[in-house]
Amino acid sequence: MHAPPSLIDLGKRYWLPVYKPRELVLDYGKGARVWDTEGREYIDFGAGIAVNALGHADPDLVAALATQAHKLWHSSNVFYTEPPLRLAEELVRASGFAERVFFCNSGAEANEAAIKLVRKWAASKGRGPERRTIITFHGSFHGRTLATVTATAQPKYQQGYEPLPAGFRYLDFNDVAALEATFAEGDVAAVMLEPVQGEGGVLPAAPGFIRRVRELCDAHDALLVLDEIQCGMGRTGTLFAHVQDHVVPDIVTLAKALGCGFPIGAMLAGPKVAEVMQFGAHGTTFGGNPMGAAVARVALAKLASPEVLLNVERQANDLRKGLAAIHAELGLFAEVRGRGLMIGAVLADSWKGRAGEVLDHAAAHGLLLLQAGPDVLRFVPPLTLSDEDVAQGLLRLRAALLDFMRPADTAAAEMSR
Ligand SMILES: *Cc1c(COP(=O)(O)O)cnc(C)c1O
Repeated sequence: MHAPPSLIDLGKRYWLPVYKPRELVLDYGKGARVWDTEGREYIDFGAGIAVNALGHADPDLVAALATQAHKLWHSSNVFYTEPPLRLAEELVRASGFAERVFFCNSGAEANEAAIKLVRKWAASKGRGPERRTIITFHGSFHGRTLATVTATAQPKYQQGYEPLPAGFRYLDFNDVAALEATFAEGDVAAVMLEPVQGEGGVLPAAPGFIRRVRELCDAHDALLVLDEIQCGMGRTGTLFAHVQDHVVPDIVTLAKALGCGFPIGAMLAGPKVAEVMQFGAHGTTFGGNPMGAAVARVALAKLASPEVLLNVERQANDLRKGLAAIHAELGLFAEVRGRGLMIGAVLADSWKGRAGEVLDHAAAHGLLLLQAGPDVLRFVPPLTLSDEDVAQGLLRLRAALLDFMRPADTAAAEMSR
């Protein structure tokens, strides 16, 4: 569409076709704006899927990366380097619950480590494999490795990959009664959940739900694992989302915004599990590499700052007000939900299944937007976006939605003729 066809043709010809990227080639960015190879400017309400939390080309992140790139790129974990040592201490301090950290490269790997830690913990208590069940919830998303895609209770991600690893059970999100009944069976080793489900439709845990999960875990000697890969690192207005649920987890996983675009993941382990995995129990070649850790240290300091967290609250309010105004005018949404700058606009029944089309129109109007399933528009912009970015983004969204509605209206008018 807007890019030299030759580049996009390369993707169509050589990439494993597991994605269907929009037909544009992004070239560079600054703050909440990105430009494509044709020089077109976009407001970025997707932030690389909730990754670029400090926007694009943040000068402090660039400096951290450049400085480390001139010193040492990689050492593996058979030698110490300073950045991951410092980062581990800083994450432990910031978390308020964790004692130890395992670094990896992605969200899936962080969750994979968490799943393995749960199993190892249960094994260390003498529980056989049949008593190491991990409960996860319909609509969740935990990653694409075989174990994490099995934890992901959405059939569309699993089909064709059977046999899947055993030991997972799926319940409805926010269903306390189902949870109590399952715990009563006596085989539960852990409950794993996202405080705000991301890919599954931007659905927050109901007030009090995670507290109840914690109580049940305590009563039945099970672990609480929180996947904050998408909702963590300040996105909901606090550095960790679970602080707002008033719970202390046993394990928390981070990735996405942890490196603000440099791939790094982490599993944070609380006192019950911090000593369970010993020498040789797990590992990674790249995990905690000095470049990723150097960037993440700066990201952590900035994302935990009152300045950024207050901006989340302020811009989230404005974005929600703007979405409400658009809804008042166009009546497109069944619901706007989420927490902080993790917002989902659920399409009304008559527009269901068409989020992808909205995204096409948005891109054509200079707005990068995401979906969370076929029915939900997902807003996960940089946490540092400005008043002007929000205002402009909303204008472009409104124009895109008007375009989106137009052909259907015309079609309906033609049908009634
Ligand atoms: C993105 C995501 C993952 C997977 O992270 P990858 O880096 O893609 O492996 C896991 N859990 C949640 C909640 C996510 O949003």
